[in-house]
Amino acid sequence: MTQCCGCQSQSARYKAILLFGAPGSGKGTQGKILAAIPGFLHTSTGDLFRALDPSSDLGKVFREYSTRGELVPDSFTIDLWKEHMRKVVESGRFELATDLVLLDGVPRNVNQARLLADAIDVVKIICLDTDKLDVMVERLKKRAQKEGRADDADESVIRNRMDVYRTNTTPILDFYPKDKIAKVEATLSMIGVFTEIAKIVRPIKDALDGYPVAQEPSPRPAAKKAPAKKPVKKPAKKVAKRAKGRGR
Ligand code: ADP
Repeated sequence: MTQCCGCQSQSARYKAILLFGAPGSGKGTQGKILAAIPGFLHTSTGDLFRALDPSSDLGKVFREYSTRGELVPDSFTIDLWKEHMRKVVESGRFELATDLVLLDGVPRNVNQARLLADAIDVVKIICLDTDKLDVMVERLKKRAQKEGRADDADESVIRNRMDVYRTNTTPILDFYPKDKIAKVEATLSMIGVFTEIAKIVRPIKDALDGYPVAQEPSPRPAAKKAPAKKPVKKPAKKVAKRAKGRGR
């Protein structure tokens, strides 16, 4: 990646789609589904933290904050994400010109959005939104059973994360231009949410890959028409004519 005075040039910034939403809104699920499509990279700061050696200094910091449902300090988080991206680019797994990175769980406050501004070019913010916060809480409790996440098992920790989301994370929506924000109802089925996201993301990715950007789902190409049959001559008329002539 080209660097000048420590900031990345406009063209070298990672083209990014922010997956935005409360804990349990499905950012991770949708990020993983989308990342199955070549040209999309899913990055989750929660996953990056969980992959750390728990006995490392940063691993311990993560544990300390996450078990209380609090945010890890900003500089640790953003440095971790930037370092992860540097490695991904270095290994050739991300094409700067055409690939899109999906940011799941970051930025989580306005300061993080500022710290990321030199590294990402935010092309869209997909906000997995709902009024039904209880559905989110139920999802997190189910995830606790499935994945054994300590921060999902305790309802008071979940409620605290919801509060942190409301207080610290939602103001981010004022940091970015309004026309970049697209809302999707988070309590639809998994495939329902994905369908809505695909509609938003497809024109962006198609344009990057040089496909014509379809406004509507493109119709299937019409089946090749069979050559028109030669009209069958109707001798009846001639016969009728001849008969007419004879009659004269
Ligand atoms: P959820 O979205 O359900 O809260 P995550 O896996 O995204 O789950 O995050 C788990 C925990 O990891 C958070 O509660 C927080 O402690 C830490 N974390 C993840 N992302 C960030 C971030 N961007 N800034 C600070 N802390 C973070």
